[in-house]
Amino acid sequence: MLLDPWTLWLVVLIVGLLLAGSMLFVWFLTPEESALGYWSAFTGLLVAGVSAGMARGLIPDFASIELGNAAILLAYGFIWSGLRRFDRRRPRLFYAVLIALAWIALCQLPPFRESVGSRVILISALIGLLATLGLVQTWRGWTTPSRPRLAVFVVLLLVLVLNLARIPLMPTQVRQNQLITFTEPHNAVVGLVAIGVAIFLNYALVLMVRERAELLHRSAARRDELTGLLNRRGFSELALANCETAGPVALIILDIDHFKQVNDRFGHATGDRVLEAFAHVLRINLRQADIVGRIGGDEFAALLPGASEAAAGQAAERIREAFQAGVGQMRPDGARVECSSSIGVACGDFPDAPSDGAARLEALLAWADRALYEAKSAGRNRVVVTQAS
Ligand code: GH3
Ligand code: MG
Repeated sequence: MLLDPWTLWLVVLIVGLLLAGSMLFVWFLTPEESALGYWSAFTGLLVAGVSAGMARGLIPDFASIELGNAAILLAYGFIWSGLRRFDRRRPRLFYAVLIALAWIALCQLPPFRESVGSRVILISALIGLLATLGLVQTWRGWTTPSRPRLAVFVVLLLVLVLNLARIPLMPTQVRQNQLITFTEPHNAVVGLVAIGVAIFLNYALVLMVRERAELLHRSAARRDELTGLLNRRGFSELALANCETAGPVALIILDIDHFKQVNDRFGHATGDRVLEAFAHVLRINLRQADIVGRIGGDEFAALLPGASEAAAGQAAERIREAFQAGVGQMRPDGARVECSSSIGVACGDFPDAPSDGAARLEALLAWADRALYEAKSAGRNRVVVTQAS
């Protein structure tokens, strides 16, 4: 089958520009993801560079060889920087610009300029280097399982392998120091591979953006907006997962005393500050591994995996004292906010993994609730610990 070189050239150019445009459109729809802008520039530059390279002999050599390849180098710089940006790191476009300029400068040296083989070796190595930097960033940012990220990784790996393979597999013509011209099949292969890389990368990158948006959305549905702690749903899910293993565990339920009066006296905004202060006290007095949530209006809960009765009781006492002292510093109307908390603690030592973690969590919640009720009935501002078995 003979493919008309002009048709192929036009297909590469048009499909590539459409792809770059569609990526720009996705960026327009999700402007907070600036990495999309970098990736759109990647496709535009790649297509411009490859088209210029394919047009060897039709346009001046400076445009085809120097500028065309510089555009391809910049393109891979953009993909690397976009991946860094996506992972909340500083983009590194400067290095890609430097590499592209070094390439143009080197091409001005006659011995290098006249050796087609040397040029192919260097440009393949430089594209391979930038693809490797992209691969490293894809790997570094891989903190949660992600199929789109795997796809980006595989395509960049392919770019690296193809460019490295280009060095030992140089066509005979190049070995004999002759340029490959516009009408030769080699040109068609390069153009089609480039457009294939751009299509797959574009898809995978857009899916990566969408996957993160979904993840953020799901985690927002499990957070309490005011305090940033888990909400009831998020707390229950994580606590349940932790109740499915054997060993000691403690559950604490905490409730602010006469919180309604704080709202009535100082206003809702001050009430909110008190809730935030309580969340802060919980965070700094519990361990990283403890699960903490706001499960109701002025009601909080914490699950302490591996905590003994004594350790959980001490943590609860620490929180009670710290909250009372901390909130006492607040002076909304010049008046001191006086506020305390009542805390119920339920501890269990479960030597065996349970057949039903939900039943264990439910029992712990019921015991802690009863302990909290006792603390309230006994006059508030105290901790009551119960040992469950
Ligand atoms: P007790 O000592 O028996 O716990 O008394 P209380 O006043 O704390 O108990 P109650 O459960 O009646 O009051 C809880 C109050 O918390 C009622 C509600 O107006 C208030 N509240 C619930 N959510 C919020 C919120 O997001 N912000 C503020 N400021 N107040 C809230
Ligand atoms: Mg209360």
